[in-house]
Amino acid sequence: MMDTERKDKTFVWHPFTQMQDWAARPQKVIAAAKGIKLIDTEGKEFYDGVSSLWVNIHGHQHSKIDQAIIEQLGKVAHTTMLGLSNIPAVELAEQLVEVTPCGLNKVFYSDDGSTAVEVALKMAFQYWQHKGKMKKQKFISLQQAYHGDTVGTVSVGGIDLFHRVFKPLLFSTVQIPSPSCYHCQIHSESAICGLQCAAALEAVLAEHHEEIAAMVIEPMVQAAAGMLMSPPGYLAKIREITRKYDVLLIADEVATGFGRTGKMFACEHEGVEPDMMTLSKGITGGYMPLAATLTTDEIYQAFLGGYSEKKTFYHGHSYTGNPLACAAALANLAIFKEERVIEGLAPKIEAAAAKLKEMEALTHVGSVRQCGLIIGIELMQDKYCKIPYPWEAASGASVCCKAREYGLIIRPIGDVIICMPPLASTVEEIETMLEIIKRSIREITETSMATTAL
Ligand code: PMP
Repeated sequence: MMDTERKDKTFVWHPFTQMQDWAARPQKVIAAAKGIKLIDTEGKEFYDGVSSLWVNIHGHQHSKIDQAIIEQLGKVAHTTMLGLSNIPAVELAEQLVEVTPCGLNKVFYSDDGSTAVEVALKMAFQYWQHKGKMKKQKFISLQQAYHGDTVGTVSVGGIDLFHRVFKPLLFSTVQIPSPSCYHCQIHSESAICGLQCAAALEAVLAEHHEEIAAMVIEPMVQAAAGMLMSPPGYLAKIREITRKYDVLLIADEVATGFGRTGKMFACEHEGVEPDMMTLSKGITGGYMPLAATLTTDEIYQAFLGGYSEKKTFYHGHSYTGNPLACAAALANLAIFKEERVIEGLAPKIEAAAAKLKEMEALTHVGSVRQCGLIIGIELMQDKYCKIPYPWEAASGASVCCKAREYGLIIRPIGDVIICMPPLASTVEEIETMLEIIKRSIREITETSMATTAL
């Protein structure tokens, strides 16, 4: 065992990881990265198939982002946004307003996806207090929602495995069915479903809108739930209903933002203008922790008033608006423009779709789901009767371990194999990554099944 791996196992506690398993198996330590490849301490190269947890956009060591951070380092690495401002944070706010959907005009910074959503929840709550609608205190979210790991975001979350243990700590939230066609509990045929999952929202709001502050939603894709994709028209319908009942809509674009779905933001697919939008992950191109909660002038105005009126939003973190991270984010946006990244995505998305079609035919693939370069491949023990593998079989983890042997790093969500390649990947690289996944699925599910864990 290399010395770093030994020290890791002695001193580090990893997120979302059963440390007993971690300590018992050989683990990879990444020493460097270049383009879309990660390089371990033994010099072995791997495709970064999940973009380093869905954050990397233009590849590692992109000269423009590297340069922007180095230049900013020569000026100021960090100062506070409490009582001061800094140049990159101001410039970035202007550009975020420009690229996000119409109506989002104010930018509140924080440090990661969870804090961006936490800010949105607190802001929505306080907004209604200032508007005199004191009863509007509850939130609506989707079953199987994931919005982060802080206590507020776990309260609006709906993934039993992660969230159940914290239940006694949480505030109560109204949850409506997830709009996932493959797992639909309401109607089995999407073509004739009439979006009954959206009608469930109307049913709640018709009776309770006076108590509901906001609905928080992952637009188009419920990512951490296993890349569950909503049917066409769902998001627009949710916007229509929330507007009708005077309930704010918080679009959590932490996972979907910055080109992931084939458009700059997922809301653009259905022309939706939310009241708040949360951004993180891809905001710095995958370089540094940074997040933003964008909101409307209407909401911002409700917080204005004299000191004695106590309308201030008392929320903020030490590293909020960090200049190095904002400089990286500005370079990220510049690359989107200069390299016409969104315009170049179509052939990559099509190539992925073609490969997925092949995978759909595999004996143990129940469903393939794609939205832009977000890909989920769900394994089933019996695809015709939709019988999943037993949890202990760890079939998703076994496939991902096998893929590592072929030079691809991916991480499953249960038995859903996730592929989120950096947007900078070429058509050929995307095809290679998906070919490795296909081969790994076949070897694990169609031959002997190796139980392992990631
Ligand atoms: N919202 C969504 C939609 C996410 O996918 C995530 C992270 N996967 C978060 C919030 C939380 O982000 P972070 O891990 O940066 O706190």
